[in-house]
Formats: sequence, C-alpha cells, structure tokens
Amino acid sequence: MKRERTSSSLGPEDFGTKVTVGGWIQDIRNLGGIAFVQLRDRDGVLQVTTIKKQDKELFKLLTKLPRESVVTVRGEVVENQQARMGFEVLAEAMEIGSEAATPLPLGVIDMVDADMDTRLDNRFMDLRKEEVLSIFRLRAAMLASIRDYLAGEGFIEVHTPKIVAAATEGGTDLFTVKYFDREAYLNQSPQLFKQYLMSAGFERIYEVGPAFRAEPHDTSKHLNEYTSIDIEMSFADEEDAMDILEGTVKAAVRDSLEAIQHFNPELKGGDDLEKPFPRITYDEAVELVRSNGSKMEHGEDFSAEEEAILGEQYPGFYFITRWPTAIKPFYALPFDDRPEECRAFDLMYGSKEITSGAQRVHQLELLRSRLIEQDLVPEDFGFYLDAFTYGIPPHAGWGLGAERLLMIMTAQTNIRECILFPRDMKRLVP
Ligand code: ATP
Ligand code: MG
Repeated sequence: MKRERTSSSLGPEDFGTKVTVGGWIQDIRNLGGIAFVQLRDRDGVLQVTTIKKQDKELFKLLTKLPRESVVTVRGEVVENQQARMGFEVLAEAMEIGSEAATPLPLGVIDMVDADMDTRLDNRFMDLRKEEVLSIFRLRAAMLASIRDYLAGEGFIEVHTPKIVAAATEGGTDLFTVKYFDREAYLNQSPQLFKQYLMSAGFERIYEVGPAFRAEPHDTSKHLNEYTSIDIEMSFADEEDAMDILEGTVKAAVRDSLEAIQHFNPELKGGDDLEKPFPRITYDEAVELVRSNGSKMEHGEDFSAEEEAILGEQYPGFYFITRWPTAIKPFYALPFDDRPEECRAFDLMYGSKEITSGAQRVHQLELLRSRLIEQDLVPEDFGFYLDAFTYGIPPHAGWGLGAERLLMIMTAQTNIRECILFPRDMKRLVP
C-alpha cells in the first residue's frame, strides 16, 4: 500500500472518496467499540477512525500498535465535525510500515519537556514535535528569502573550500585536520576567498556555508560549527554593505512574518521593518554604557554585561559603526583622516551580535602593514596577497550567523534550538 495523500491535501471535495494516507500514530483514543487514531504526517494530524463491529481484525491490529509506529491506511473520507480537521478517514485496510519500540525515549505530545541532552540524543524523536520542526521550516524559508533577495540585488552564490591551509585571522580558533601527509584546518570564515573573488571580478557574491570555530566556550549563543551567510561586493563601502544587510534581514522577516509572529510577537513587522535600523557609532555606544554604570574603557570590546545595557536601550535591530581599528580584524579599512577608527560595523539585535562587516583594505601596502600590526606574518597570506597585486576594486562585505538570526526570529534563548545537529564542546553525535 502506497500513501497517495497527505493530511493537508484532503478537504471537503474528498468526502465520499477512498484515499490512502500514511504517517506516525501520535495517539489512540480507544472507546471500546470505536477508536480514534491521530495520524501525523509532514503537514498535519489526521483522524483515522476504526469501528470494531465493521472489522474486528483491523480494529484489534490498529489499536494495539504502540505510539509513533508508522502505518499506511486506506479508507473513506467522511465529514465529522468532532474531528480536528472537520473530517476523518474510516479505516478499511492497513499496512504496518514499522512498529515503534516501547517505551519511547521521549514523548512527542507530552506536556512535560525532556532536558536538552535527552532531546538532542534522540533528535529524530524531538523533531517530530511540531514546535521543534517548525523552527526548521522557518530556517528553510529564511534562507530561501535571503537567497532570493541577494539574487535580486545581483549577487551570485559561490562555494569556497572548507579545508584550508592558512588561518583567516590567526591560528587560535581553528580545528586541525590531517590532510594526507600535511596538517590542514577547517575554515573559520570564507573571508579571504570572498575578497579573492573580488579580484577575480565577480563584484557581487554570497555564500551560505559552514564555518568552524574551535572556541572552547560553552554559551547559549556559540556553536563550534555554524552556518555563515556571507556577502562581498565591489565598488562599495561599508554603508553600501549595511544597506544590503538591512535589506536582507527585512526581506527575510517580511517573507515569513506570520510564522515569526507565532514565535516572537514582539518582533513587529511594522516598527522594525518600516523604519531604518538605527546606526550608532562605537563612541556613542561606549558613552551609553558608561552613563549606565559600566566602567568599560574606550577601545575595548563590549562585554556581555555591556551588551545587555545596549540591548535595554535598543531592543530591536541596530548597527554599531566606526569601531576602533585595534579591535577589528586586519582587513577592516581604517578611515583616511582618523586611522585609529575603521569602517567596520556590527548588526545587533538587542544584546546579541548577529553580523560583523566592513569596508575592506584593498591597498596592498596598507594590507601588509595591517597584518604586521596585528602580529600576523604577510608571508603566511601569500595566495591572498597575490589577489591584491594585480588590480582589485574597493570592496565591502559581511558575515551573518544564520542560527543567530533564526534565534531572534523564533525567540529562542539557546542557539542549539536553531540547528539540527549542534556541535559544541561536549557534543559530536548525532
Ligand atoms: P561573537 O563575538 O558573538 O562570538 P564574533 O565577533 O567572534 O562573534 P564574527 O567573526 O564577527 O564573530 O562572525 C560573524 C558572525 O557569525 C557573528 O556576528 C555571528 O552571527 C556568527 N558567529 C560567529 N561565531 C559564532 C559561533 N561560534 N556560533 C554561532 N554563530 C557565530
Ligand atoms: Mg563579530
């Protein structure tokens, strides 16, 4: 027996016809002579009803199946106002696809929530919960919107290698891998390759791909493997890159507004989307946290506490611009008239950083001296510097953490909720 229809494809026009449906048995309510089976599939929960005096064998077989078993059922679609969808399928034949073992490692419809480790150890079961699965529907929609928006702005998608010979920004946060008889690394960012492609003349590119960080911290917003959405654009400065970023985020939110409001009614379509995102300078941000009791020094990065203060003043999306050159990577372009400040920016949502970007250094000599200033060795960046030697336009770009943006859209406090199989210091399976 092969399933021909999903739950959401059925409707009043099917009343009186025979269909074959299939799914997971979410629940069975057995009243003795009649039993109601809640059959869950990809897009809903359908009531399948079995009546003892119509088919004793079928009734017995179906009602003794453990929860979460997979079955295919053939029967007639009949109207029933008592059923959740306003109709049910009266079972006439059934095939057991796979019987579930008991007890289940965690419940799919139970009110009590299992702890995070149990959930992640049994992710296949955890994902059967509508609330959990819907985060990943939104993730897919978010990425589709972003691709769509960027394509509309003339960006083309590229894929750069994840096994690399040199570190992007120095060596500390890298995983090493054995590459035949050499040592290689898992890339922490496509930064160098994106810039390389500006020399090649692509002008506008984006990449959605994994980024690996061997950061040994255990927080609710860091993963050791995350999905980075990156763009790079030529003949552009940091303002152009911020405009594209703002457009990207707004498009993603607008396209999935209904789903987002289910999770996060605070993230209003109106306010946050109609107005431009506020842009404050690093200096203004430092002033703000200091006037709220922080003792931070000018020139430092914001600590978690200081980010919390910023988040109180700016609960939505906002940019922090004009960062001190010393605390941004070597490739951020310093201002001509004030080299201690650079054309870098972060996009924040409340207390959370979701993107870092900048206009980049494209002048070879400046690039060399910036590398040296940050204690890096220009010779280690040979292939990268080659691309700056024979003509490269001014360019700018950013890297946006997909899981960070999804956390905001779904109002999740733990980033592990926003990736199917989180990789953190303790978890490598599944
Ligand atoms: P943070 O200060 O939050 O650790 P970062 O400044 O080190 O981030 P960048 O190198 O600027 O991170 O990376 C660009 C974006 O990639 C960040 O704004 C964030 O959205 C995302 N990102 C960076 N590191 C991680 C991580 N370990 N897990 C999840 N997302 C990350
Ligand atoms: Mg950053």
